[in-house]
Amino acid sequence: MKCVKCGAELRRVRIEEVTVDQCLDCSGIWFDLGELEDVLAKDEIECLRNRIDNNAGHDEMTAPCPVCGGEGNMVLVKDPTHGLHIDTCPVCYGHWLDGGEFDILKSKGLLAGILSIFRNI
Ligand SMILES: [Zn+2]
Ligand SMILES: [Zn+2]
Repeated sequence: MKCVKCGAELRRVRIEEVTVDQCLDCSGIWFDLGELEDVLAKDEIECLRNRIDNNAGHDEMTAPCPVCGGEGNMVLVKDPTHGLHIDTCPVCYGHWLDGGEFDILKSKGLLAGILSIFRNI
């Protein structure tokens, strides 16, 4: 699977029982449906955060989903209350977090908020 942002190859990264795909170049992480929730539920935020470089800064995504591709581009789901924006596939409901976005989530203590966003999609 290729990175949706820079095209580099994604590698499988195992975080406890959850395996996600992380870009070797930009440190973005792809979560299949349910994977992000699993990671958060297992309180592995710190573990995941340590795998992300300080590569903060968000680019709005227009590329097709790396999993199901072609069925429509990723959409940016915004939460105006918390200022969050998460790239989400409208077809398979996978999520993409740019490198550093987990830091932002953690620093703002908005993990509960982001989970509620996903449930509402
Ligand atoms: Zn990348
Ligand atoms: Zn998809």
